[in-house]
Formats: sequence, C-alpha cells, structure tokens
Amino acid sequence: MDSFQALLTLFKQYQTFAISTHVNPDGDAIGSELALFLFLEKLGKTVKIFNTDLVPKKYRFLPYWNKIKNAKASTNFCPEVLVILDASSRERIGSFLSKSLIPTHAVINIDHHVTAEAFGDYNIIIPTASSTAEIIYKFIKSTQIPIDEVSALCLYTGIMFDTGCFRYSNATSETHRIAADLIEIGDFAPDEIYRHVYEHIPLGKIHLLGQTLRTLELTSDGKIAWILVTQSMLKETKTTMDDVEGFVKQIQAIESVEVAICVCELPNGKTKVSLRSEGRVNVAALAAEFNGGGHERASGCRINLPYASAIKALVASAKQHIEENC
Ligand code: 5GP
Ligand code: MN
Repeated sequence: MDSFQALLTLFKQYQTFAISTHVNPDGDAIGSELALFLFLEKLGKTVKIFNTDLVPKKYRFLPYWNKIKNAKASTNFCPEVLVILDASSRERIGSFLSKSLIPTHAVINIDHHVTAEAFGDYNIIIPTASSTAEIIYKFIKSTQIPIDEVSALCLYTGIMFDTGCFRYSNATSETHRIAADLIEIGDFAPDEIYRHVYEHIPLGKIHLLGQTLRTLELTSDGKIAWILVTQSMLKETKTTMDDVEGFVKQIQAIESVEVAICVCELPNGKTKVSLRSEGRVNVAALAAEFNGGGHERASGCRINLPYASAIKALVASAKQHIEENC
C-alpha cells in the first residue's frame, strides 16, 4: 500500500485527533495544520489543534485560525491520534505539549526537513517537497475528497512562505503547478496573500531591523556574516521574536556571503539561531552540530550558551564548513 493510502486508512480508522506543529509556527506550519484540520473534519472526525506559540498576527487572515488553541487547552483532551506537522522532532512542538499531549493509539509525523527524525508510529518524510503544505496537498489529491477553497488558500500560504514566495531552490516546476492549481481552486488573489504575510509589518519591526543591521559583522574574507538581536532591542522597539523573521535573508544577500547567521538572545539567556547558506555549505549539517536541523540552505538551532559564546562557536564551525566546501 502506498504511504498516502496507508495514511488515509489510519485517518479513517480513528475518531479523535489532535494536530500540532513546531514552536514559533510559520506559514507552512499554520497553513498545513488548518488544511489537515478541515480534511479530517470532512471525514467526520473530532479534531483539535494545539500549538505552543500563538498564531502570528499576519496569519490571522486565514479562516479558522482561531481553531488553533494554546498548549494549556490540551490538558483535558486525550486524542487517539496525534498528528505532528513540519516539526523535525517531537520535542520541537514545545516541552509542555511533548510531555502532556499523549495519544492513546498513534503519533503521525508529516515533514519535509532533511533532518526530520522518524519519531512517529507512522512517518511521512519527503525532503524533496518544498513544504509540509505541498505534502498535505498531494495527500488530499490522492484521496477522493476534493480540496475546498479555504484549504487551497491555507496550502498556498504554506507553500508561498516556505519557498520564500517561490524564490528558493525548493520551488520546482511542480511546486509552481501545485500553486497554480491552488489559486484556481481557492479563487484568491495571490498578491493579496503576499500583502497579508509580508506587507503588514509593524513599525517596530523596521526599527528593530535598523538596530539589528548595525550589529552586522563579517569574517575578513566576507564569507560569514552575522547579526545579533538582544532582549533589550526587542523591548526598546516593542517587538517579539516573531518579528526577527526574515532578517537573516537580508545579510545572506550580501555578495560575498556563503553563510549568514542571525543570533537572537532568548529571555532565559540562551540563544536562538537562524542559518542560511548560499548553496555550497550545508547548514542543516551545521545546525545539527548544535542539536538543530532544517534544510541544506535554511536551518536553525537553539544553543544553551549566552549569545557571545554561541556566536564564537557558530562562526568557528561555519569556518570549517567553508574550508571543506568553498
Ligand atoms: P528559521 O531560521 O526560519 O527559524 O528556520 C529555518 C529552518 O530551520 C526551518 O525549516 C526550521 O524548521 C528549521 N529550524 C529552525 N530552528 C530549529 C531548531 O531549533 N531545531 C530544528 N530541528 N530545526 C530548526
Ligand atoms: Mn516547512
């Protein structure tokens, strides 16, 4: 039986489902959750979505976004099946949820990260897929149930986000064909979706970007660039960690840069890291050295060190990767 057929059989077999995704959920995580939620509801299932972090404001144009509940709301819900989307590892749904949201029968893991762990009882991991939304699209297409307008909008948003608006190397001709199909089904204007996600920037984010770019440092050969976001910068600009999204892309675009690093000080003094590669260095492998993961050109990790030490360790490791590959 092929993997999508087996997945459908599992979905039909059980009645109660919980869906979750990684901390700091992005467009792919949220779009995939909502489309799968709607699909399971159509099968007549009881479905709830629980995330560790709130739905960022820019995704609140998606219908049913408020079906996504806070982790604490899961306390009295014991699903038969837990579906984890786009998460790479079970722990990445957040420490509370990964300990408390325990299904009675099965964990299903659907992901597209090269570093994804097969932590589920049933795993669909397709690293060649642009996004988890693309996997959900292909899965729904493989069933007799048509994709509805709202699901098309959610899936398009997921694919658009994870391909950087179809600019990254994961946007293949097939991805474009899928996007075209979703636009037709959903009957939405793609430019409006773009504006929702990228052009509702709070003013504070622009101030934060200004402050962050002033921290820019490069190695003498210009191949590694890094920027820093501290808690005091977030406080001063009245922004949150969500607002840091996209910053690393700015410095990856510098002509000489092979590896771009954005380092963010967490409230607990530890460090959140985003890594981007121009293509020669595999930053999924680099992140894995720090117990993180992701894709070859876009990855991340959390390091249990204050930011200054984290930067030292990251730059040293990036230098080694550059020596081996560039
Ligand atoms: P971003 O830099 O946009 O937060 O993340 C880029 C990619 O790296 C995403 O695909 C994301 O899932 C992955 N990633 C980011 N942080 C972590 C992390 O702490 N652990 C793992 N395994 N992957 C991460
Ligand atoms: Mn994704």
